[in-house]
Amino acid sequence: MPGKNLSRDEAQQRASVLTVDSYRVHLDVTSAPDPAAATFRSTTTIAFRCTEPGASVFVDLLAPAVRAVTLNGRPLDPATAYDGARVHVDGLAAQNVLTVEADCAYSRTGEGLHRFTDPADGETYLYTHYEPADARRVFATFEQPDLKAPFGFTVTAPAAWDVWSNAAHERVTPDGTARTWEFAPTKPISTYLTAVVAGPYHVVRDHYSRTLDDGTVLDIPLSAMCRRSLAPHFDADEILGVTKLGLDFFHERFAYPYPFGKYDQAFVPEYNIGAMENPGCVTFREEFVYRSKVTDAAYEGRANVVLHEMAHMWFGDLVTMRWWDDLWLKESFADFMGSYGLVGAGTRYQGAWVTFANQRKAWAYRQDQFPTTHPITADIRDLEDAKLNFDGITYAKGASVLKQLVAYAGSEAFFEGARRYFQRHAFGNTELADLLDILEETSGRDLRSWAASWLQTAGVNTLTPQLTADAEGRITELAVLQDGGVLRPHRIAVGLYDRDADGALVRTARFELDVTGARTVVAEAVGRTRPALVLLNDDDLTYCKIRFDEESLETLRTGLGEIRDDLARALAWSAVWNLTRDALMPARDYVALVLRFAGQEANIGVLQSLHAQAKGAVDVYADPAWRGEGGRLLADGALRELRAAAPGSDHQLAWARFLAQTANGSEHLGLVRGLLAGTARIDGLEVDQELRWALWLALAAAGHATGEELAGELAADNTASGRRQHTQCLAARPTPEAKAAAWSAVIDSDELPNALVEASIAGFAVPAHRDLTALYAAPYFKLLERIWAERTIEIAMRIVGGFFPQAQVDEATLAEADGWLAGHPDAAPALRRLVLERRDDLARALRAQACDRA
Ligand SMILES: [Zn+2]
Repeated sequence: MPGKNLSRDEAQQRASVLTVDSYRVHLDVTSAPDPAAATFRSTTTIAFRCTEPGASVFVDLLAPAVRAVTLNGRPLDPATAYDGARVHVDGLAAQNVLTVEADCAYSRTGEGLHRFTDPADGETYLYTHYEPADARRVFATFEQPDLKAPFGFTVTAPAAWDVWSNAAHERVTPDGTARTWEFAPTKPISTYLTAVVAGPYHVVRDHYSRTLDDGTVLDIPLSAMCRRSLAPHFDADEILGVTKLGLDFFHERFAYPYPFGKYDQAFVPEYNIGAMENPGCVTFREEFVYRSKVTDAAYEGRANVVLHEMAHMWFGDLVTMRWWDDLWLKESFADFMGSYGLVGAGTRYQGAWVTFANQRKAWAYRQDQFPTTHPITADIRDLEDAKLNFDGITYAKGASVLKQLVAYAGSEAFFEGARRYFQRHAFGNTELADLLDILEETSGRDLRSWAASWLQTAGVNTLTPQLTADAEGRITELAVLQDGGVLRPHRIAVGLYDRDADGALVRTARFELDVTGARTVVAEAVGRTRPALVLLNDDDLTYCKIRFDEESLETLRTGLGEIRDDLARALAWSAVWNLTRDALMPARDYVALVLRFAGQEANIGVLQSLHAQAKGAVDVYADPAWRGEGGRLLADGALRELRAAAPGSDHQLAWARFLAQTANGSEHLGLVRGLLAGTARIDGLEVDQELRWALWLALAAAGHATGEELAGELAADNTASGRRQHTQCLAARPTPEAKAAAWSAVIDSDELPNALVEASIAGFAVPAHRDLTALYAAPYFKLLERIWAERTIEIAMRIVGGFFPQAQVDEATLAEADGWLAGHPDAAPALRRLVLERRDDLARALRAQACDRA
């Protein structure tokens, strides 16, 4: 489609001549409940100025049909003005009014205006999601972040529905079976941040107020909503409680009153990402409404997202990056503020930095070691580049680097910088230099060289201790070696650990220092007794991979679980996982560590990541000859710990889920079936609906569940979640027919909604079914370019990433991937990036298998 992929150059050109004064958008979604209606009417009126009268410009719009285009009262022929992606208008005046009337499509991919019909009650729900560039699927727009404007939305919807948008509604006018909702004009915001949520949502309302420094009272109406059929599970009080703590906290830190009036939080179906920071109308994936018991790690994760999105009201919504190169200016900050806020705002999730160190950073380390890695401030040529950059670098590495900046420049300088940044750039757009200018003012430090090494170069450094001791066991020198690409200044802590009287490993000394260059001596360590464990980057101040000296590694093999401090233990777990991924520790040794110590891991989030990593180690990194034994060891371990866990505890639930993921022998599968049938019990374990599906998935993947049984479960749980999990179970059956059906449902038609595409791919790609799925490697590579061209980018990304033959860890598949890359140098860069990353995973797995075999 011509012009669908807007380039940075085009956006700059447009911004150089245009100023947008306002949008008025009318959407008529009264047809939404009728499944036969594919489109809705969209009418956009844009008032804008142009510094070059007579010039031409285009407006972005992805719509099945354009009915009318009028520029300054002059009708244009849609047949010539509209090319399928852009409405071209010429002869601009200094002041212009452009009206575009179109039929836009309801989305099934989560991009644009998504429509979902609830299988539980037949009700239809709508919501929008645009970032980075899908507002143009709903109305005519200058789709780039730096052409901000006030938006006035009007929505005509079925009379029984409620409608929300960024601003509060001003009036609701009934008209027969419909009602028209008129919303107040927004503050100037970017197109990707506009939002509409409509449907018979269940709503919980609340209120926040705060006296500002000047004595005025700020009132913020709050609401939280979800589908009606989820209402019995909706713990809105918990969500609104975190919301209020966050509003207190960010007002104190940012000293800039929340600028967007009210604050709605909508939990919406079939959502592609975690959440989106639409000003005043945040949208979240509805899986955050927990239908069944989840562990506290899930509650912590949700609270983190609530605060992440709230931080965006300032970092991103009030002050927005000029173009997607500086996406980090909002995402790195929000990611940092999620954890920082959980601790600082006084929520009950005081272990947030442990989770960050152990899980969030793993995402960053992984992404940063791909050949496709990039600096935190990226080079984003176009929208496809932008779409792929919502990644572990932009979020988690960026947040890690901000954490390092706080250690380097001090938190007062950091937050005073934030306050000046909001004052100076409110409702505007910024780039890296705008932030650095302010941080240099407040910190008094030269941050250009810091930014050059941390923000403008890619890759992760590795820090390794080098320790020598004399005959009496006293340290004669402790040095920190740095390698891995561009060497950086690291502010780190070094911890020395020894056994206490109870046998626990506890810190006996801590040194904080600046590591620069390839070798830095820790002068203060000289003369101390050689410790059992040297932990670099203790307290997780910097962003790096850490290694151990031989003696420390031996201490971990026998005592990792006995490190008393949660954060230090989480760092040790991360480090041994990185050793495994880097083919420096055999996968079976990592699995042995997990089996030995996971049973005593107190931190539930860490435990759940150990489960995922241990399973990955066996599936992908272990020598195939040992895989079967490794799988049995995991399932035996899961069963042992499940029986040992405290009744009703989060740990018990986590081990039950791990048993479902690893069950393979008849003993394990027999218990799974018994738990489902109610003939077996584990004291305190409630086999609720979500756990039932996890157990059914275990049986389905082992070939022990019939289609009738799975249909029976769906009949008992005819919900959105039930339908997804049923789809995944069907695709997870170990038969050629099941794999063919899943493949075909995704590839041969675009009817499947995003949620079922995801479920089908997940079921198809069970690692243990590698012999069945091997047949699909060749067709996969043949289809790539067609899929990329024909599908929306969201769905194409899922297919390219999910159907890559990642279970085929062998030289032949690697050669196939290399062959495709060599033969398609001109394929879309974003497509090549995805294939390169999967190819790199495969090469890494081959190295890890060789290490495990040796
Ligand atoms: Zn974000």
